[in-house]
Amino acid sequence: MGASKAIVEQFGGQVPRTMEQMLTLPGVARKTANVVLGTAYGIPSGVVVDTHVLRLARRLELTKHEEPKKVERDLMDILPQNKWIQFSHQLIWHGRRVCVARKPRCIACNLEALCRAKDKTV
Ligand code: SF4
Repeated sequence: MGASKAIVEQFGGQVPRTMEQMLTLPGVARKTANVVLGTAYGIPSGVVVDTHVLRLARRLELTKHEEPKKVERDLMDILPQNKWIQFSHQLIWHGRRVCVARKPRCIACNLEALCRAKDKTV
């Protein structure tokens, strides 16, 4: 409700298109802002770090951090900007379908040759 009100009152009823403006909306932090800017508008403002991205970025040794902002920074540093939007979707689906939390399905994983996770199942 707060975000909707702010969008109507401060942005003329249009969802803003910059990270700076998105972060002024109540209840909106970088994750939501990145989802909206990236998936709705195609603007690569950052990398969405949800629970799957956080877990897999660590499992795949793309970061040593646990705090989403720092994980996002690491991912932004190693990925070309034109991959930021798609990468989050890819990692989220990989985390849902293959690299699940408790018992990853490594036998079905395309990344198996690259992965050095201690809890691999093959
Ligand atoms: S090999 Fe296993 S642990 Fe590594 S990314 Fe694939 S599913 Fe995850």
